[in-house]
Amino acid sequence: MEKTVSKQKKVTYTNSCITPIYQNAAYFFENTEQVIKYHEDEVSLGRYGRYDNPNWLEFESKMAALDNYESALMFSSGMNAIVTTVCSFIEQNDLLIYTGKCYRNIRKFFNQVLPKWGVKTIPIDPTDSDDFLQKYHSKAKILFVEMPSNPHLYLMDLAKIKSEISPNTLLIVDSTLSTPCNFQPQRFGADLTIHSCSKYIGGHGDTLGGSVAGSRELIEQIRNYRNIMGGIADPHTTFLLNRSLDTLEIRMRHFNEAGMKIAKYLQEQPLVKKVFYTGLESHPHSSLAKKYLTGHGGVVSFELDASQEVTSEFVDALQVPFMGTNFGSSHAMVEQCSVFTYYHLSPAEKQEIGITDSLVRLSIGYENSDLAIEDIDKALKKIK
Ligand code: PLP
Repeated sequence: MEKTVSKQKKVTYTNSCITPIYQNAAYFFENTEQVIKYHEDEVSLGRYGRYDNPNWLEFESKMAALDNYESALMFSSGMNAIVTTVCSFIEQNDLLIYTGKCYRNIRKFFNQVLPKWGVKTIPIDPTDSDDFLQKYHSKAKILFVEMPSNPHLYLMDLAKIKSEISPNTLLIVDSTLSTPCNFQPQRFGADLTIHSCSKYIGGHGDTLGGSVAGSRELIEQIRNYRNIMGGIADPHTTFLLNRSLDTLEIRMRHFNEAGMKIAKYLQEQPLVKKVFYTGLESHPHSSLAKKYLTGHGGVVSFELDASQEVTSEFVDALQVPFMGTNFGSSHAMVEQCSVFTYYHLSPAEKQEIGITDSLVRLSIGYENSDLAIEDIDKALKKIK
């Protein structure tokens, strides 16, 4: 085949309202001068699908704006965003401090994987600010805060923490459970903000993704590691995530309203012992919530005044939510934490992170909240 055939002019419109899906592995250059300009960042062109994609560029610039930073990067999942980000900065013999009551696989990465590589990791209790002060060491390279935490929605006094830590400690916040609509960690001193985009940001239960946002300088260091580790999002997923961002604010408004209504209802039920929802005065961090959050989202965790078996009867009786482990999606999901996500933990480990036998995590969907309440009501009546 003649060389000119494969290099024929591309026919494109550039005025589509929606960015088309760039399902593409490689990009061509007109000549060597253009290649040099690419290396010097003087032209906006792609080189290879692990480094460049216009769908990512769109998503990343929207996420940077939402999170209030200069720059952002996207990844194939939230876990990939976390692992790649931490690996970009951590070295052997470094110290990393993290909120121990956090998503299970983040904890595993910190307490199982990093120590194998000679990194010292220390969990702190987000319910106890003295614990942070006792365990913080000015030599810490990274302080990783999940806020609000999964599943109890614990918060920390981020601005106070920022004023106490060394300027050399990188403050990274995973704020998946709030989204930028309800909380912007940058405003309180976070150097980097991470989201699992598989949750509220995707919002339809059909995509996995992750993001990190920060200063241009930090993001360029992480980009180098993303290029090496290759945890990139595929173009179609990125297209869907871009579409989802258009409706994020409207969807979060629904979650904030419905979440509050359901949490208030639950609080009134005699069979419900405790409700973990930052919008309620009874949440241990409700005063921090007033300082940091503008909304409380669609995850409501609660403990029943019941045994593990009776709690299982309750979740089995629910008709509206799927039984499963996701949140921020179009359909409601419910899990009894001790027999679902935390099934393999020993009783001592469960106790350490506050996973009781009767703890239920309900993630609201886009259904009418009255319907969800009616469903819970019927399930509670069954176990009375
Ligand atoms: N961060 C938080 C707070 C999470 O709850 C999760 C997953 O549940 C993750 C990160 C990981 O995200 P992903 O499932 O997209 O890897």
